[in-house]
Amino acid sequence: MRLSEIISSYKSTLMAKKLPFLRCRACSYTFYYTRDICPHCHSRDLEIMESKGLGTVFSVTTLLNKEKQRTNYAIIELDEGFRLYSTVISDKPVEIGTRVSLKILEIDGSSYPFFVALKN
Ligand SMILES: [Zn+2]
Repeated sequence: MRLSEIISSYKSTLMAKKLPFLRCRACSYTFYYTRDICPHCHSRDLEIMESKGLGTVFSVTTLLNKEKQRTNYAIIELDEGFRLYSTVISDKPVEIGTRVSLKILEIDGSSYPFFVALKN
């Protein structure tokens, strides 16, 4: 699969409000960032999958602006095993281990993956 095909598929999947990721058919490694080669075993036998959109906060940094509004920059580990940088939308503190759910937002005509904290 060519890189341009992967990027094109990612855009259409995100526009459909779903989160794409790549899975290596040779070693089953999963990853988010668009590459045409497996970063684990270097195979080019990849397939594009759709995540169920559930994950866990792996790392988080919270910034407060002058109005005390918080932005939670986080690394999310999805249940399918891959990680991506994103933002957790929450007025409450977000911690490592917080369970989150995907929320695709459209900004200036493009779709981006954000997350919201799941209530326990
Ligand atoms: Zn692989």
